[in-house]
Amino acid sequence: MRRGSRNGDASEAFFMRNGRLIRRFRIDNPRRFRLADHDPAETAGFEKDVAESITLAHVQRMTDLQQRLYAQHSWALLIILQGVDAAGKDSAIKRVMVGLNPQGCVVHPFKVPTAEELDHDFLWRAARRLPPRGDIGIFNRSYYEEVLVVRVHQEQLKAQRLPPGLVTRRIWDERFADVNAFERYLLRNGTALIKFHLRISKEEQRRRLLARLNDPSKVWKASMADVAERKLWTKHMVAYEDAIRNTSTPEAPWYVVPADHKWFARMLIATVIVDVLDRLHLDFPKLDRAGQRQIQRMRDALRAGWSVK
Ligand code: AMP
Ligand code: MG
Repeated sequence: MRRGSRNGDASEAFFMRNGRLIRRFRIDNPRRFRLADHDPAETAGFEKDVAESITLAHVQRMTDLQQRLYAQHSWALLIILQGVDAAGKDSAIKRVMVGLNPQGCVVHPFKVPTAEELDHDFLWRAARRLPPRGDIGIFNRSYYEEVLVVRVHQEQLKAQRLPPGLVTRRIWDERFADVNAFERYLLRNGTALIKFHLRISKEEQRRRLLARLNDPSKVWKASMADVAERKLWTKHMVAYEDAIRNTSTPEAPWYVVPADHKWFARMLIATVIVDVLDRLHLDFPKLDRAGQRQIQRMRDALRAGWSVK
């Protein structure tokens, strides 16, 4: 479904519907953003089987767009996934990114910072993992943890050993400003960003953490810390709300993805990725006249079984 082929046919309706869907979950008006207005169980009127076939179509389209991104070698795309434990970040990566060529795609999961990472500014470790031109980078968690988990657990801020005079009540607003400046800088240098917050309800998280304990393929992920962290649910949500309010910008808006239904979350994520890639006008590099003549010479040589002189 190329943009060029939308001549008032069915694809037109398809794109319009996509546009509406995307705008509904994109935070274009961050000052008025409230998490409570976003129902984690929302499905926007979609049925599961329809959503799954849409996801499949988008995944196929993504394969083509990635090839163009790679060949054009101009833009890079950075996809950020943020959400509490069991929000479905890992499975979104597994199921939505299946169509991507591993050559040209890097996933990085951000864990508790190492001693070396703590000795650097908070964007350092993320900067080292940014995708080069032509590639797609996926951050499973990101530098946003620095205004989320670190804000909820302020002892983690102490571990960063910042000069005491620099740690004031304004530190979170300063970090938001730094993140916004960093993202603007990335965009100005040809890295497009997509930021997803996978939003699940506390009850759905309980169900998933419980199910993990009974699933041999997932029990390794279970941790007492995740269960204990549930006591701080409200604090985490307040931190998410404030972060989204302050870092949803026209260049790098947040998408708040209702994630209680994984099939809906995956469809929305796939839709947004295709939309953003589409807007980059990706195309295979065109040959100029000299290039075309060169191709003809190569063709003649190969057909005749010679080597080019
Ligand atoms: P998981 O994503 O389940 O593998 O867990 C990774 C853990 O690392 C989570 O508990 C995150 O909160 C934590 N984490 C990631 N980045 C940071 C950070 N910058 N500071 C502190 N904890 C972090
Ligand atoms: Mg975990």
